[in-house]
Amino acid sequence: MSFKNITVAGSGVLGYQIAFQTAFKGFNVVVYDINDAVLEQAKSKFSNLSAAYKKDIHATDKQLAETQSRLTYSSNLSEALATADLLIEAIPENPKIKIDFYQNAGKVAPEKTIFATNSSTLLPSQFASYTGRPEKFLALHFANEIWIHNTAEIMGHSGTDPEVFKAVVAFAKQIGMITLPLHKEQPGYILNTLLVPLLDAATYLLVNDIADYKTIDKTWMAATGAPVGPCGILDLVGITTAYNINLMAAANNPEKEKVVAFLKSNFIDTNKLGINTGQGFYTY
Ligand code: NAD
Repeated sequence: MSFKNITVAGSGVLGYQIAFQTAFKGFNVVVYDINDAVLEQAKSKFSNLSAAYKKDIHATDKQLAETQSRLTYSSNLSEALATADLLIEAIPENPKIKIDFYQNAGKVAPEKTIFATNSSTLLPSQFASYTGRPEKFLALHFANEIWIHNTAEIMGHSGTDPEVFKAVVAFAKQIGMITLPLHKEQPGYILNTLLVPLLDAATYLLVNDIADYKTIDKTWMAATGAPVGPCGILDLVGITTAYNINLMAAANNPEKEKVVAFLKSNFIDTNKLGINTGQGFYTY
């Protein structure tokens, strides 16, 4: 099982990066989104990405021109999937939207097409039955800024065909990813299963005034050799994301309520949202 034609559904933050990286590595890519206006916006983002590829990984003009030539665009789902070996879905993190999408895609995609979701928080088993091809469905999860943070977590559900899983691992390697296979379903995959408790522990130490942010980070970095501590990671992830996650967990949880109040008054209300705004715990 090998792939040549890839369709990426959703040309938002992650979708357009996945499409570009896949075309950069030599695959034919169709970018699918809900309408032509959104696809036009995506095309302009591809130009910005070209600049980032030049700066960060020294991509040449020739490579970038070839990348652009392998990308095509369609807002017609049947047309977008007509020759797809693999569909990578990167549409909003909303179960209803994803279910509708899989029901439609399942009907029009050729039988051979493997479906992969880039969902960060939803599990493949939630959608498998709607795809019409549960054995050819799994998660292929990328990180933001895929060309530098080149990780791919690959996670099947209990009904995923092991050969399909292997083929998707091989594909992820071909597009330059460090492949990180999981043996079974796990909310948060590997990275967030490790990271979320670390970040929770850091905010616990802060809101209970046990240590200041510099000491917390210094402890982690000096003791483990990590180049950045949890508060630095919060700046990188974005304080808004941490705030939203804690807000969801805050109902009837006084510890989380403290974290929400702390993040709101120190960061959200003052627009110190991390690296993106030039200021979070640290100044950038
Ligand atoms: P986004 O909101 O930036 O982009 C979503 C895109 O999907 C938009 O272009 C939108 O027009 C399109 N869309 C909406 N409904 C659609 C439909 N029915 N069919 C086709 N396209 C549709 O979202 P995002 O941040 O790129 O996230 C997409 C997925 O990737 C989510 O499942 C998310 O969990 C996952 N993800 C995001 C990140 C991240 O850092 N943003 C990282 C890893 C994984």
